[in-house]
Amino acid sequence: MMVSSKRLYQEAPVDLFEYADELRYGEMHLDVDPDLGYHAIVAIHNTQRGPAIGGCRFIEYESTDDALRDAMRLARGMTYKSAITGLDHGGGKAVIVRPPELTASQRESIFERFGAFIDGFDGRYVTCEDSGTLVSDMNLVHGETDHVLGYDTAQGGSGDPSPVTAFGVRRGLEAAVHHRYSRNTLEGLHVAIQGVGSVGYYLADELDERGADLTVADVDQSAVNMCVEQFDANVVEPDAIYDVDCDIFAPCALGAVLNDETIPRLRCDIVAGAANNQLADEHRHARQLDERGILYAPDYAINAGGLINVAEEYRGYDRDRALDQAGDIYETMHQIFERSEIENRPTAEIADRIVEEMLYDH
Ligand code: NAD
Repeated sequence: MMVSSKRLYQEAPVDLFEYADELRYGEMHLDVDPDLGYHAIVAIHNTQRGPAIGGCRFIEYESTDDALRDAMRLARGMTYKSAITGLDHGGGKAVIVRPPELTASQRESIFERFGAFIDGFDGRYVTCEDSGTLVSDMNLVHGETDHVLGYDTAQGGSGDPSPVTAFGVRRGLEAAVHHRYSRNTLEGLHVAIQGVGSVGYYLADELDERGADLTVADVDQSAVNMCVEQFDANVVEPDAIYDVDCDIFAPCALGAVLNDETIPRLRCDIVAGAANNQLADEHRHARQLDERGILYAPDYAINAGGLINVAEEYRGYDRDRALDQAGDIYETMHQIFERSEIENRPTAEIADRIVEEMLYDH
């Protein structure tokens, strides 16, 4: 069903179609079951390069408008990530609004219903895990449709993408090091990692193996302890990570960590990490980093390993092939850095420009 509820427009601060025009949409679809408390959105931003891939969020939203905009913005992000990575995929995203009270059987019914919804797209949109969804939810979706990725490895899925994401981030970070310092090794370089959860931990492992010195911060003490024991990492309090005098800052926790308050505090030459949406304001903060002489590795290009991993599953999973393609992030980064220098524009702008030329300039 296409978006047609009058309420949505009345509640929206900016006209929804204007927002859709701005993002160069695309399609929006809704699926609703009032008895189940089920409200799902699928945003398909672009399928020019192939079937749209993107995760399914299952979180609470303050308003329907927030949920719609989140789905639209995230789906567009997936288009850009696929294109810059050279994948034959477009961008899509699903949002299921999580009810405040949720029983186990309701959760099961919601994901079964969602699976049937996804099946209706006949493969034009392929879903997978995202914030708030679990492998077990994807197993339920898989019961209703083949157009789902990232379900249980026991059922033939590719499992946790974090090691491949971390590998890609390490290759992107090496490209940044090569560009900035004209050197091919990480030996003796100091990397400050914010967040040593799934990706951050594997990244720490990759960097430690190559002789980098690590400082880590995490709100989870057990995650920090593991890095101290295994990699002899230094530890700082979560908020102090921005002040660490280091070569590279690697944000691997939250979005919007590069902002008016943090950028002036950074004491690094390079920002290269896994977190999505690192720049609080895509244009202003990309420029601020540039003005401070900090080389920024655009997030959706450097963290594409996870997408590469699930896209690989779409073709019939081969881990070596996934790692091989994630290794190409090195060349993509070089392309972005070199063009940024030639055109004297921030790297984030250049990454967007490369994608927009691929998709819209014919
Ligand atoms: P995760 O939840 O496993 O790890 C995040 C870690 O950050 C946790 O250990 C958490 O305790 C920590 N953290 C939370 N708040 C913090 C704070 N204020 N300061 C320091 N640490 C804090 O998540 P993940 O899968 O490792 O993903 C990390 C980031 O990378 C996210 O932004 C995610 O969207 C992005 N990403 C992940 C993948 C993937 O394959 N998992 C792929 C692409 C992008």
